[in-house]
Amino acid sequence: MVQEHNVQSTSEGNVQSELIHELTPTSYHEWYNRRKHRQNIEDGKPYFNGPGSIPEPTYHSPSKLLQCHRKVTYDQLNAPEETSDPDGIFWVGTLFEERIAFPFLRSVASNADAYVRRNDWIDFQVETRVGEIQFTGSADPVIVDEESNPILPTEIKTKSSLDHVSKSSRIHRAQLHAYMVGLSAKYDVELTKGVIIYGCRKSLEVKIFHVEFDEAFWHDVVLEWATNHTEYRLEERLPPSNPEYGWECNYCSFRERCGRGSRPISDSPSEGLLPNFTGYPREKLLDYLDANEDARLTPSLAHAYPSFVDEYGAFDWLCERCETSHPWDTVSPGKPTQTPPRCPDCSEKGRVSSLRGPSPLEQSRGGYQ
Ligand code: SF4
Repeated sequence: MVQEHNVQSTSEGNVQSELIHELTPTSYHEWYNRRKHRQNIEDGKPYFNGPGSIPEPTYHSPSKLLQCHRKVTYDQLNAPEETSDPDGIFWVGTLFEERIAFPFLRSVASNADAYVRRNDWIDFQVETRVGEIQFTGSADPVIVDEESNPILPTEIKTKSSLDHVSKSSRIHRAQLHAYMVGLSAKYDVELTKGVIIYGCRKSLEVKIFHVEFDEAFWHDVVLEWATNHTEYRLEERLPPSNPEYGWECNYCSFRERCGRGSRPISDSPSEGLLPNFTGYPREKLLDYLDANEDARLTPSLAHAYPSFVDEYGAFDWLCERCETSHPWDTVSPGKPTQTPPRCPDCSEKGRVSSLRGPSPLEQSRGGYQ
């Protein structure tokens, strides 16, 4: 009996060790990414797997209106992102909309013999000084009449706190204005009112703001922004780094590329990986490498992700002083890994100089210039 008990204990012990061995952040990360990939396909949104296609310069998404032109440009041109997506915030936002806001709207609408449509697609054009520009996107829940004609569009957002929220954001008003215009055109009605609902992710309290369509705001602010943005894109100019709202930089995925980060880099173009920067999240780096056939790892990134080198290749190091190049794996970056290494040839001659990786512009031209 004692022997059997020991056999069982050993077997349970093995299973336990195996389970403990498998329950790691890495296995979670891999499981989560596989699940997300599958979910996107099952939801009919395979384009969310990997980098998106580059939109035409004349194309505008209501959700991007009035944001930092430079950030939107980097995003549209698929510049490599320096932070992971805030999936948790998106997830809570979707749950809040589906489980809280939608039932609330339905309850209010039913009292007025109205209904709520979960979302509605808009697609309309506006003539501007740069020609026709287009707005497409999916509106949040819309209160509709029995014939499904829109009565009141909504814009639903969640926030970490509502303590200092005393009015709706101009960015959200711009988005709602685009939905009012788009839905009016689509259903041949004249929508002049909408509602913005902010839900607190902590308390689930809400603040609700009624928005009147403002012709001057739509034409002078929103359409002007969209026209300017199209101009930047058509002229292939990097927009200035002066967002209307300074807080945008705090949440921006392109801070280092732009020049608001900790590295001595600024005003980088959309293409190319930043030299001596290894902070790219793994999935964002892969998105970039997969989307750009000629892209190679910088030497710093090759050290951070050596398993990627076989598939994507890596640039050499270059010493500006003696102009010699060194294969990426013959010299290690300093600690932390974003510190460029010393040139071994110069060191031998008693000189001090640093090696560098190719700039984004050099990468887009295939190598050091
Ligand atoms: S860091 Fe700020 S200025 Fe630069 S792209 Fe981002 S939001 Fe715009």
